[in-house]
Amino acid sequence: MKIAARPCFSLPWLFVALSGLLPCCGVAADSDLPVCHMIATGGTIAMKIDPAKGAPVPALSGEDLVASVPGLNNVALVRIESLFNISSDYMDPEHWVAIQKAAIKALSTEDVAGVMISHGTDTLEETAYFLDLTIASDKPIVLVGAQRNASEPDFDGPRNLINATRICVSPQARGKGVMIALNNQINAAREATKTNTSDVETFKSGEFGFLGVVDPDRVVFHRTPERRQYIALKDGPVPRVDIVAIYAGVDGTQVRAAGAAGAKGIVIQALGLGNVNIPVYEAIKEAIKRGVVVVISTRVPNGRVLPVYGTMGGGQTLKEAGAVFADNLSPQKARILLMLALQNTSNAVEIQRLFDR
Ligand code: GLU
Repeated sequence: MKIAARPCFSLPWLFVALSGLLPCCGVAADSDLPVCHMIATGGTIAMKIDPAKGAPVPALSGEDLVASVPGLNNVALVRIESLFNISSDYMDPEHWVAIQKAAIKALSTEDVAGVMISHGTDTLEETAYFLDLTIASDKPIVLVGAQRNASEPDFDGPRNLINATRICVSPQARGKGVMIALNNQINAAREATKTNTSDVETFKSGEFGFLGVVDPDRVVFHRTPERRQYIALKDGPVPRVDIVAIYAGVDGTQVRAAGAAGAKGIVIQALGLGNVNIPVYEAIKEAIKRGVVVVISTRVPNGRVLPVYGTMGGGQTLKEAGAVFADNLSPQKARILLMLALQNTSNAVEIQRLFDR
């Protein structure tokens, strides 16, 4: 065993053990247990310190991870699919599509209650939102990661894994879409973002709050995500969309570079309510004239973008120029919605409807 087992008398773990009517350590699974299909993709949760590098690197397979969690076999029968073992910094649309296909296949199996996906935390929210948009299933899909690697004495992987498994097989989790399970908290895919580089309480949903909690006795949901939608994934590469950051004194170079690189869409990480300066405004107008769809989001973590200001580059003038407004989606999530929308249309009015949903 690579990770020290948690003590059997820890309260949440005792509940888990008792709920399976089995002692908490080293016991075979009950075959009547619900099935949770686990897709392992890597991340810190699957890393250990490489002694030569003195730094965490991928080390644990899905099988290793599940074997390292005492009590997990009392919660569910976990079927493991080790898909990749990569840092989530290496995720891209091709990896998202591979995960989506694996999840849909697993969910179509009748005895599977839900899917759990282990993933690095850096881009976890992007994969979660891509899956939330492209999978039509009532069964729970739970992404899980860790902030501390498996060589650390307070590795947060085992607790997060057992929590994610409990959500995966919870009847209350049905119809909630794709969820993120870290630190006993549940967040919804559309709303959640990584808020702290190292703290175990990193995923938060801003002004909307957590979707629920994983308590020792049961999984408790406070609400249902209201703003979910489904966009079927088409065959072939997902259209390229780039994100351009706006800051004081920026010019239009990066907007033009995105267009020159072949982007079909550009998400602007604008200021405040959705404003840019004059050089960027000019570059955006050129891009829209060439048929590139421009979506205005904001670098402010909470609140919607709105076409309010009438200064050149203010939201009202961007709207008049034909830009789409991203509502309250973060730039990285607006990019995903735009990529999927562009599979079907480049009409700004139709795309605006998707952002308004
Ligand atoms: N950069 C790595 C990743 O996202 C580590 C971060 C993590 O998993 O927490 O996979």
